[in-house]
Amino acid sequence: MTARPTSPARTVALPDAVTVKGLAERLGISPIETIKRLMTHGVMAAMNDTIDYDTAALVAAELGVAPERMGAPDAVAAAVRESGGGDADEAGVARPPVVTILGHVDHGKTSLLDAIRETNVVAGEAGGITQHIGAYQIEREGGGPVTFIDTPGHAAFTAMRARGAQVTDIAVVVVAADDGVMPQTAEAIDHARAADVPMIVAINKTDLPAANPDRVKQQLTEHSVVVEEYGGEVLAVPVSATTGAGLGDLVEAIDLVAELQELRANPDRPASGAVIEAELDPRRGPLATVLVRNGALRLGDALVTGLVSGKVKAMFDERGARLREAGPSRPVRVMGLEDVPVAGDAIRVVEDERTARRLVEEARRAAEGAGASRGRVTLDTLFNEVSAGNVKELVLILKADVRGSVEAVRGALQGLGGEGVKVKVIHSATGPVSESDVMLASASGAIVLAFNVKTEPSAAREAEASGVEIRSYEVIYQLIESVEQALEGLYEPVYERVVDGVAEVRQLFRSSRVGRIAGCYVTEGTLRRNSRIRVLRNGEELADVGCGGLRRFQDDVREVQQGFECGIVLDGFGGFAEGDLLEFYHQQRVN
Ligand code: GDP
Repeated sequence: MTARPTSPARTVALPDAVTVKGLAERLGISPIETIKRLMTHGVMAAMNDTIDYDTAALVAAELGVAPERMGAPDAVAAAVRESGGGDADEAGVARPPVVTILGHVDHGKTSLLDAIRETNVVAGEAGGITQHIGAYQIEREGGGPVTFIDTPGHAAFTAMRARGAQVTDIAVVVVAADDGVMPQTAEAIDHARAADVPMIVAINKTDLPAANPDRVKQQLTEHSVVVEEYGGEVLAVPVSATTGAGLGDLVEAIDLVAELQELRANPDRPASGAVIEAELDPRRGPLATVLVRNGALRLGDALVTGLVSGKVKAMFDERGARLREAGPSRPVRVMGLEDVPVAGDAIRVVEDERTARRLVEEARRAAEGAGASRGRVTLDTLFNEVSAGNVKELVLILKADVRGSVEAVRGALQGLGGEGVKVKVIHSATGPVSESDVMLASASGAIVLAFNVKTEPSAAREAEASGVEIRSYEVIYQLIESVEQALEGLYEPVYERVVDGVAEVRQLFRSSRVGRIAGCYVTEGTLRRNSRIRVLRNGEELADVGCGGLRRFQDDVREVQQGFECGIVLDGFGGFAEGDLLEFYHQQRVN
């Protein structure tokens, strides 16, 4: 491959071996985030585990930071640099938005996807969209293309995110107008919010006599989704997947939100993106649908995804047409991978097939080596993780038996934490801990708290595999207490000086027993024997010491009030002079 223009990227110098913590510091991300990113490459490492250069370079590249090996430059680093690194949006051309449809079961997610697909076939085009490849792009007359992810629902959405692939730019939350906001609607809203993806509400089934869009809007406010009509910012569009009504308005709303996001990409650089679907085709071998995020994927490109390498031998779009090149936000079915990759894994283009194979081999070895020392983010270890890193937020998911306890526990949790550390409950609901809760926890670095509820077996398996901690409690008090304890570890207490009293030095004495004594007059407040003292001369601090003695006449006293005279001995400091001010203070914790 010839050198392609690469964007000026930030670089990071990496040694041959680096601890997870050290890597996090170099990249300016939290250790937990680093651990999560390593997991997506099959590397299970704890905070203090050492990882090799190539693995560290993978994580750096993903973040759009070009790794540079300390000492001799390395071919892998060069290859990664060449590939353009991560998928960060950059100055370039506008790229189409990628949309995922979320919502409660039976509210019409699939019907909407089908209806949009069918009504947006460009006039005159033969055949239309014939294949389900996991995503499709609509081309419109008088508007730019929009990419829809064909697997609706927040479980798939969050599973992808848990593997590190945040491909969605806009979430359309579908609510059936006759049914209203249901538990999975609320869950979808929380999942979209946790992903920090802007939301549009599609109020579907408005063709039904029982449809009540106003009630839906009202119910949404209870979940802090305030639609425009009610003074909020969320666009709500009435639609019907059955009659096709409002579908144009929905796509227009998507355009509007996309415009605000200023989605950009540079089609001139090598592709980076994610696998959104993969299968083994009996005739064509492994097939993967890749969503190009940035750059362009070209025929003949060598690529790496997870533990799979390959070369683009052929590419097809959702109409079955062969492509030579796929630009930003385009889903393409890629033929030529050596194995079936995992959906959600990042892809990146590297120099050549040999480099691709070597990177995969090294990633595999690193994964095997690190297999024994898996890092889990738990309430117990959080203390250490956090005191060493930058985590200033305790992210929680709460499941409880009844509505009342959800509210009670959530209320109590939100009262915890202070200036330094915030408690953030990203999702709370009744019912057992589900697989989707664990996915959300995994994608968001959260801990799951189960209050008087069970964990579904599939969720327990997923938690085990992804290193998510599920904590079960039967007593509210115990739940709150353990979160409080974890928070104590998170806290970096901030103290503030509180001045209790000020004395002016008026005369100097000497005692054979205690040394120099300052004869003082209390100008403000109260002096206390157990305070600390700052010695100030013309506003400048000369010393900050303990109080060695406080006397009225010949008596040792505990306090001296304003307007009285006293003798003061300073611990280990005798350099005071007449006219100095002695500020008596104590430290008070402010958070
Ligand atoms: P999903 O589970 O959210 O994907 O929902 P589906 O798309 O499978 O739709 C569930 C049911 O609702 C199906 O029987 C659809 O035919 C029906 N449905 C979907 N959209 C509409 C609509 O706009 N109007 C009416 N009347 N029915 C709809």
